[in-house]
Amino acid sequence: MTTLLVVGLHVQPYLPLMPAVQLNSDVALGVAIPSRNARGRIARLGAVVDAILGSHDYPPVIEKLLAEALTLTALLGSLLKEPQGQLTLQAQTQDGVIDLLVCDYLGGELRGYVRHDPAKLDSLPEAPSLQELFGKGYLAITFDQPLAEERYQGIVPLEGKNLGDAAQSYFAQSEQIPSLVRLAAEKRGGHWFSGGLLLQHLPEGEEGRERLHTRLDHPDWPHVAILGGSVKAEELTDVELPLDDLIWRLFHEEEELRTLAAVDLRRGCRCDPAYVRSVIAKFPADEREAMVGDDGLITVDCAFCSSSFAIKPAELS
Ligand SMILES: [Zn+2]
Repeated sequence: MTTLLVVGLHVQPYLPLMPAVQLNSDVALGVAIPSRNARGRIARLGAVVDAILGSHDYPPVIEKLLAEALTLTALLGSLLKEPQGQLTLQAQTQDGVIDLLVCDYLGGELRGYVRHDPAKLDSLPEAPSLQELFGKGYLAITFDQPLAEERYQGIVPLEGKNLGDAAQSYFAQSEQIPSLVRLAAEKRGGHWFSGGLLLQHLPEGEEGRERLHTRLDHPDWPHVAILGGSVKAEELTDVELPLDDLIWRLFHEEEELRTLAAVDLRRGCRCDPAYVRSVIAKFPADEREAMVGDDGLITVDCAFCSSSFAIKPAELS
């Protein structure tokens, strides 16, 4: 069927005004299944996740974990309405192999960092659980929308097989929103690929309205959860499979299936020389002196992107 757009008295073929957004890689796509009161996001990362992991030198277990954390960050960050909204994931841990994990999203830009103990990691099984990695850990999810002056933080116990499980039980328990979260990451041909699906049941309409009547046993939801849950890890990470095709594959039997706006995802860091200088300048003089290296400079590395900043001590006073 040809779609026609009627303009005045002329009838002309419909031509999209915007260049088509590519939906294979480094993109998050909104999804809605109106007849089932379900909506969510699907996201895939290719070059972006590969570049972020490439600037660190993590073992494969940590790389996979960070790839999945970045994918979750993209799914949740792309839910923000404000273009300059920020979403941060930060793990707080106790006695784990990992003592710090931070990922954030700002206007489509992603970055992430993990600090771990390599000796402790060696003693773990090949596919460790979240508890083995984080010990007694929590994941703080912070949504920050500066224009609306909205800041909201949720805390997720780091339990279950992977971060997808942890995020899913967070939505179900703290937010009372039946949710499905699937995350996958895989290294193929020397490059990392990741993907994720987030679906939520919003039976009394849309976000922003009070969800007083949410029913965890609404019959529409198990149906959506079974179809969404059937997505395979290799489908989520397959850059040959456009995200709209994958959504269609999962939900083509539904009465109505919509894809919404797509958000391009990029690698980004907000470190800059002036900021680094201002942080170092706040240290007491004797501590600054101790930071000066043999070359007479204070060298500071950005933990996120591994950029290195050399500061002349004389610039600080
Ligand atoms: Zn940086």
